[in-house]
Amino acid sequence: MGIKNSPGIEPGTLKFFEDAPHMYLILSPALTILTGSTVYLETTLKKQDEITGKYIFDVFPLRPNDPEDGGIKHSLEQVLATKKPHQLPVLRFDVPDAENLLRERYWYTSNTPILNAKGDIQYIIHHTQEVTDQVLAERRLKDALQAQSGFEAKAGLASRQMEKLLSELPGRISLLRGPEFVFEYINPYYQRQFPDKEIVGKTLIEAFPEVLMSPLVDVLKNVYSTGVTYEGKEVPVYLAKKDNAEPELYYFNFIYQARYDEQGNVIGILSFSYDVTELVKSRKQVEQHKDDLLMLNNELEERVAKRTEQLMNQRDKLNSFFMQAPAGICVLDGPDMVFELVNPGYQKFFPGRPLLGKPLVEGLPELKGTAFIDILNGVYTTGKTFEGHEVAAQLARYADGTIEDRYFNFIYQARHDVDDNIDGILVFAYEVTEIVLNRRREHEADKRFKFMLNAMPQQVWTARPTGELDYVNQVVVNDFGQDMEAITGHGWQEFIHPDDLTECLEKWMAALQTGDEYMVEFRLRFKSGQYIWHLGRAVPMVEDGEIKLWLGTNTNIDLQKTNEQRKDEFLSIASHELKTPLTSIKAFNQLMQRNNDAQKLNNFAQKSADPILRLEKLITDLLDVTKINAGKITYQMQPFSFDKMLADSIEYVQQTTPTHKILLQGSGNVIITGDQFRLEQVVNNFLNNAIKYSPRADKVLVKYFTEGDNLVVSVQDFGIGISAEDVERLFERYFRADSSGMQFEGLGLGLFISSEILKRHHGNFWVESELGKGSTFFFKLPLK
Ligand code: ADP
Repeated sequence: MGIKNSPGIEPGTLKFFEDAPHMYLILSPALTILTGSTVYLETTLKKQDEITGKYIFDVFPLRPNDPEDGGIKHSLEQVLATKKPHQLPVLRFDVPDAENLLRERYWYTSNTPILNAKGDIQYIIHHTQEVTDQVLAERRLKDALQAQSGFEAKAGLASRQMEKLLSELPGRISLLRGPEFVFEYINPYYQRQFPDKEIVGKTLIEAFPEVLMSPLVDVLKNVYSTGVTYEGKEVPVYLAKKDNAEPELYYFNFIYQARYDEQGNVIGILSFSYDVTELVKSRKQVEQHKDDLLMLNNELEERVAKRTEQLMNQRDKLNSFFMQAPAGICVLDGPDMVFELVNPGYQKFFPGRPLLGKPLVEGLPELKGTAFIDILNGVYTTGKTFEGHEVAAQLARYADGTIEDRYFNFIYQARHDVDDNIDGILVFAYEVTEIVLNRRREHEADKRFKFMLNAMPQQVWTARPTGELDYVNQVVVNDFGQDMEAITGHGWQEFIHPDDLTECLEKWMAALQTGDEYMVEFRLRFKSGQYIWHLGRAVPMVEDGEIKLWLGTNTNIDLQKTNEQRKDEFLSIASHELKTPLTSIKAFNQLMQRNNDAQKLNNFAQKSADPILRLEKLITDLLDVTKINAGKITYQMQPFSFDKMLADSIEYVQQTTPTHKILLQGSGNVIITGDQFRLEQVVNNFLNNAIKYSPRADKVLVKYFTEGDNLVVSVQDFGIGISAEDVERLFERYFRADSSGMQFEGLGLGLFISSEILKRHHGNFWVESELGKGSTFFFKLPLK
């Protein structure tokens, strides 16, 4: 069979033509028949094996006398020569019909070549369609039209005759009247085409609104106005066979011819049309199939083209990525790393510094000798990708610019040639200088801030706008003896004295709400368990009208607080202390006024000497303190015998006490330079205290000795002693130990004055004491 002879043709293709409901012959370029469709065989009364493999004109011989035959040969030759489809005019070729009767038959024939990928003819589709009916109808219409002129002119001609003629025609005939084209008459064939439609009496547009979509209306109007007959071939028309149905596409051959009245005016149109839809569609189908086949044949080529296009697209995409990427991208070619490609993003790192075409170290000479070159060489030799994160690079931005510290995130990636050898490096880079520097600055600022807060000698804290503490400085941590975590958040409330907490929280809440400064005095519990008075203050840090942070401080005001308390205490003590001797003196004075007896008067005078002395001492102390405070004590520095001064002082104090024996240990001839009167005041104070604070003891030990260039003096008693806590504060103004409190008279000024005097003599002083056992007061003076 032809299939074997024509290896280029798919068996499916031949089968398609064999089964098609039309007359097809498939011809080789040598015009042998490859196959014929069943319809073709039926129409021509041939069998498949009679035609297959045979030269076409052996099967259907040319008839030299019939010139129309030559048309086919000529057409095929033309197709072979031009490789283009060719259509023959409708031609007559009489073949026997189904009843084997030879009769007049007309054919519409086309030859379509199918080309292979190389552009050579692979085969030819020979398609024939019988159009005998149409041709005969057309012919009869022409005859009728000729008759019609007579019909219209001679009104007497019986219309029934005319009707008969028209009804026999296998085409659509209608008579349209007036410029509105009202259907005056349609022939039975016409009505059969639209069985459910009422057409007569309607205008063309009423009956077929869908014709508005076609150019026919204009054509009709043209015929109506000019009288020129119109012949249309295979005119596409959308028509609905039923009212309200979807219009379908039909093809018609048309003749529109003007109708005249007796005066020669156009009064309407005679229209004859016949349906050639089948014909056109089948031809289109062949063309369509031809297209399919062409597509098949060219598929490979198309695939190649598509792939090429895809690649081009991809390249385009890559290219636009390369150009528009927000990153810097460049390609360094070869071992010299020549800038082969530099995208705008990369060039932006170095405005005004041309890089393209230059080796790396020429384009960016500042890179010479840096680690970057080593890394790039490493990537080039190993092929291993290198990723850098926030790497510092010393690079100039502008051609004549200074070299700056710049930071980059980057990737160096090896590029490979077709043989998979490394031939370059792909560089992606983002500059992150701003980000890094900003972060550093922020970090620095934060560090400096924290450092500052830690350097503050008082408690410092910060809190969020909602009130939780988020930072406390080292002072707080040290004072409370707790980790920062235990104090931040709401932990700090734990350390506030329960009596102060309510007020503190109320004020804090109020401040958070109003944004006003927060200030409160409260006691904070230190790690020792002791509560220390603090002044808490906080101010909001406002940014863009919004509170971002509260900055708070707690200042230790314990000293002020206790000093205040002590001052109050002192005033009450002082008035009491002053009042007691004064009351005695007043009493003696009254007695003396009422008495004349010299003996008694003398006695009273002697007795009032004691409170007077006491009063004088109190006033002297007060004056001394005032002077010390004002820095106005004057010292008479002179060499004197310390031994003598000490002996005098002991003798003097011994006279005032009947209970205690003052024992002196140590001797020598010590001369020191100082204010003898003031140093004696110190010794007196120590001795008086020793006696005063050891009411149940009977002795006081005084020792003195030299130690290197110093003189050391100690006064030891066996009295109440002093707690370790109090020892530290003994020499403060107004300080009076709790243990001695109210039982003993005194203003708490003596030791303060003594310490001031010793300081002015460049001396030291200290106490060793045990509660209930006694105390030893020391002082040390330089001999020179
Ligand atoms: P005062 O007039 O109260 O004695 P001072 O300054 O001389 O004032 O002493 C301060 C405080 O030191 C005293 O109130 C007492 O509590 C304590 N003090 C001083 N000397 C002794 C001592 N020898 N033994 C115990 N307590 C002492």
